[in-house]
Amino acid sequence: MQEIRTPGMQHVVLSQKSLADYAPIAGESVIADIERLARPLQGARVLHISSTAYGGGVAEMLHTLIPLMRSAGLDAEWAIINGNDDFFTATKSMHNALQGMDLELTNAMRAAYLHANVDTAVYFEGEYDFIIVHDPQPAPLRTLRRSDGGKWIWRCHIDLTAANQVYWSFLRPFIEAYDAAIFTMPQYVKNDLHVRKLAFVPPAIDPLSPKNAPMDDERAAEIVRMYGVDPTRPLLVQVSRFDPWKDPLGVIDVYRSVRAEFPGAQLALIGSMAHDDPEGMEYYQRTKEYADEDPDIHLLSNLDGVGNVEVNAFQQAASVVMQKSLREGFGLTIAEGLWKGKPVIGGNVGGIPLQIEDGVTGFLVESVEEASAAALEIMRDPERAHRMGEIGREVVREKFLSTSNLRNYLRLFTELMEQEASESKSRMAKPVAW
Ligand code: UDP
Repeated sequence: MQEIRTPGMQHVVLSQKSLADYAPIAGESVIADIERLARPLQGARVLHISSTAYGGGVAEMLHTLIPLMRSAGLDAEWAIINGNDDFFTATKSMHNALQGMDLELTNAMRAAYLHANVDTAVYFEGEYDFIIVHDPQPAPLRTLRRSDGGKWIWRCHIDLTAANQVYWSFLRPFIEAYDAAIFTMPQYVKNDLHVRKLAFVPPAIDPLSPKNAPMDDERAAEIVRMYGVDPTRPLLVQVSRFDPWKDPLGVIDVYRSVRAEFPGAQLALIGSMAHDDPEGMEYYQRTKEYADEDPDIHLLSNLDGVGNVEVNAFQQAASVVMQKSLREGFGLTIAEGLWKGKPVIGGNVGGIPLQIEDGVTGFLVESVEEASAAALEIMRDPERAHRMGEIGREVVREKFLSTSNLRNYLRLFTELMEQEASESKSRMAKPVAW
C-alpha cells in the first residue's frame, strides 16, 4: 500500500510493531540495549529512501526496521524514489555491473539515472536528522541536496568486491558525499572509497512476520499441497528472484542429479517479481524452459498467490533449503531457512559464509556437484539435518534478527551525534585568527 505525497517520492504506509513483542524471542538484553540507546534519540526524524516497497531483501527488512524504530520512539519514515522504466533498466544494469558483470554504461543510462534523482531531489520535502539512502538507485540524492542538514548515511546491500570499474567510478563521488556508509562486511568496501565513517551491519529477518512466525508441520504440508507438492516426498526449495546471480538453472541441475538416488524428489523455485527488476520476467521464462515441463519442478511466484505465508510454508516443508547464488550481498533467504530449523546449502560467496558454517549449520558449495553431494548428505540423514537446523536457528537468534539490526542503527546514530558534538566543541575552542 502506498500513498502519493509529492511528485518526487511516494511514502510507504507501514504496519505497527511493538518492540515488547520481540523480547521473548530476541531476549530481554537486546531490548534493554535498544531502550538505552534510543533514550537520547526520542523524536529524532529519520527518513529511509529506497527504490521499491515490495520484492527483494531491502524492502523486506525495511517493513520491520522502520516500525521498530517508531516503537523505540524515533519519528521514522520510508520514501520510494520515483523512476520510470529507463531508470529501473539503468539501475538494474548498475546492480549487475557492481556485482561484477561486464556491461556498458551508456550516456542514455547515466541520463536516466540522474534524471530520476534530480526529479526526486527537486521535490524533496521535510527536514530530517538522519537520512538513510539504500543502495545505488537513490545514491546521488546527497550530492543533489548538499545544503540540507541532518546526517546522511548510505546503506549498501550489495557485494562490491568485483565491481565493474566504470560503474564504480561513476558512483563513487556520490557515495563520498555521505557522512557515513554501512556495508554488510568489511570486505565489501572498495579500497578507493573515502567516506568519513564506516559501519558494518548484517541484514536481519523479522521472527514475527508472517514469513518467519512459527508454523506447524501440518499447516505447512496443507499449504504446499495446494500448490501440487506432495509433502510426504523429499522437497528441495529455493526462494529467490528469477535472476542469473541466484542460479535457478543450477538448482534445477542439482535437483536432477539428486533424483538419481531419490526419484521422488521435488523442487520448488519460488520467486517474486519485484517492480525494480525488469529482467525478472525474462529470466523466469528461461527457467521455465529449462525445467522442460517436469511435473515435479514447481515454479511459483507472487503471481500464483505465493506470499509470505506460503514462503514460510515452503521453507518449513523443505527437506533441503537452497540458496545457490553465484553472488550475494547477504541472502536473507538463508537466515529464513536456518530460522525454520533447516540446514541450508548456499553458494560460497558474499554474505553467505557469514550465515552458514560449513558442515555445522549447512553447506557452502561452489558447483552443482558440491551442491548435489550436500543435498544428498542432508536427505540421507534427517536426524543430523535436524540437529544442524537447531544450531542454525540459534545463530540467527543471536546475530540476524531485526532487533539486532535496529540496535546497530541506533549505535551508528549515537556515534554520529557524538562525533558532531565533539567537532562543534573543537570548532568553538579554536582561537580566532586575526
Ligand atoms: N522473497 C519472497 N518471495 C519470493 C522471492 C523472494 O518473499 O518469491 C523474499 C525472500 O523470502 C527474502 C527476500 O525476498 O526475504 C529476498 O532477499 P535476499 O536477500 O535473499 O535477496 P535479494 O532479492 O535482496 O537479492
